[in-house]
Amino acid sequence: MSAEIVKPKIAKPKIAKPKKVKQPKIKYCDDCKEAVDSLKHGLCDKCVNLDKNKFICKSTIKKEYKLNDEDIDDLVFKEVKNPHYRCAGSMKLYNLLDIKNRFAELNTCDLKEIKNKQEELEEQQINKKELLKRNKEVKDRERLELFDELLEQNGLSKQDHSLSEFCILRCKSKISMTRLINKIKEIKKRIHDFKERMRQDNILNIEQNHNLFSVFYHGEYTENEFRVVLIREENLKRELAKYNLKIRCDSRLCNEYLEEGFGDPEKIALTMKQMEWFFENSNYKTIMNNLMSDRDNRMYRDVDSLSNEAKIKALDNYLKNNNMEDLPEYMIKFLDRPSKNNKKNKKNK
Ligand SMILES: [Zn+2]
Repeated sequence: MSAEIVKPKIAKPKIAKPKKVKQPKIKYCDDCKEAVDSLKHGLCDKCVNLDKNKFICKSTIKKEYKLNDEDIDDLVFKEVKNPHYRCAGSMKLYNLLDIKNRFAELNTCDLKEIKNKQEELEEQQINKKELLKRNKEVKDRERLELFDELLEQNGLSKQDHSLSEFCILRCKSKISMTRLINKIKEIKKRIHDFKERMRQDNILNIEQNHNLFSVFYHGEYTENEFRVVLIREENLKRELAKYNLKIRCDSRLCNEYLEEGFGDPEKIALTMKQMEWFFENSNYKTIMNNLMSDRDNRMYRDVDSLSNEAKIKALDNYLKNNNMEDLPEYMIKFLDRPSKNNKKNKKNK
């Protein structure tokens, strides 16, 4: 604000001004031209609700009157900015009376019958959708049945779980069945040859592998890579079996070994057995949970080192109440480990 020079105030004698009497401004309705107190968009209350003064947008026309672009392309419209979405383009507004007239004309009905006719059309549309859906279901089923026949004719079995799942998926799409059959044949042939080679190499767990089809179809692995995974799987299974354990798909150790060849199956099996012991015989889980609940631990230490700390504490607790002789042999091996960070050093190699 600019500085003002403060002038000493001199009281002025007050003279009463004549009060202005507010005359209500007379407004006229644009449509009926009658004089009214207030207007809405230039119209009186009565006129504003008349169809000829109402406007609707294209999407409403399509939805409520089932008219398409062609039905209304000769009608006059006004273009306005979309009030709902500022970034959307302008929208076309049509006169409601024009639309009703066009609707009545195309459906050969009276203006008064419009509401009934609308309901009728709505019902028809729902029935049509329902019918289309049912037809599609029937078609899908027929395709599947036909496909089953084709599989049989080609000496292919759908018993294989992954194969049947695959077929259902493909059948619903529009791929030609002949092409699909050929593709399956080709993959089956590849799997057959692959199994043969695996048998020669004495890798026998291939028979129990249920993922073969999808592995080959999606090309997740090359044959060589897959062969390596199978060999690892066999090695790991053998080691785990010594402790009466099986491969666990939720085990990080198992997965890292199977997928990346990380670690040594013998040691993995031992660690898993020890882990089982810790869970069943000690308060390892509670200790580990406590360690993990500490924010600093989570931020600055890796899970392996925390787990190690929990294991040592849990074993200490156990030995307070039990004798060393109570420990199974594989747990004695845990005590014999050369260094706490054994695993970690190995990882960095
Ligand atoms: Zn009016």
